[in-house]
Amino acid sequence: MKSCAHSKLQLSLDRWEECHWYLHQMETNYHEPEPFRYSCNSFLRAVKEVPQALRNDLQRHSDVKGKIEILLETVSMNDLFRTLGKRRDFVVHHGALNLSSHGRIGTMEGTKIKMVLPFRVHPWERSDEAYERYKAMCRENEILRGLGPDCDSVPALWRTWMVPQFPNRDLLDVAFEAWVLLGGLLSSAVEAFGGEKLDLSMPCRHDSARVQLKLYSQLEFFQSVHGIDLKEEERKWREQRGKT
Ligand SMILES: [Zn+2]
Repeated sequence: MKSCAHSKLQLSLDRWEECHWYLHQMETNYHEPEPFRYSCNSFLRAVKEVPQALRNDLQRHSDVKGKIEILLETVSMNDLFRTLGKRRDFVVHHGALNLSSHGRIGTMEGTKIKMVLPFRVHPWERSDEAYERYKAMCRENEILRGLGPDCDSVPALWRTWMVPQFPNRDLLDVAFEAWVLLGGLLSSAVEAFGGEKLDLSMPCRHDSARVQLKLYSQLEFFQSVHGIDLKEEERKWREQRGKT
């Protein structure tokens, strides 16, 4: 019964699966501007194709089409969808991302934030490049260096991708909402064919707060900023302790 319902919605379910895959690509490439933008745009293209794919799937099933039509309209009229669908090149431009995306730098002790400062992570630079810039600033600036990691904490960098159309919302969350919205629509279609509800929880999704965060090596920071080899220091300390 289930596979039967699904086989009638092959085009639209396949597009929706594709959206799911692109969402993971957005997560994986979050700290690399170009790959992130490309995966984001691929996601958006696939998202916009789902309603049309569903219309195609339902072409020869006018009974189900009748039941789903209102829902299809509702999704198309939804604010999120209207914004995403407005232009073909919704986030292709750097410009939209430049305005609202921002970054922070700081330190983490285990899973806790120990220190955090606003730090401009340019939308065109990789997080690793921004981090190199931060280390260069630390070498020059004693106060900033003092705020950096100590023996118990590691360097951390946060960045977010936002567009003015969705103020203060990470694009990953916006993308997930769009995926859920379409999933609800497809789920209704599956049910109308006698199948079971679709699972819209996406347990394989990563928490966007964790995706925004990139941790760096404490050892490398001490070596390249303070000129201190922590391993060597620890070895000396143990040797000293062994003597007394
Ligand atoms: Zn997944």
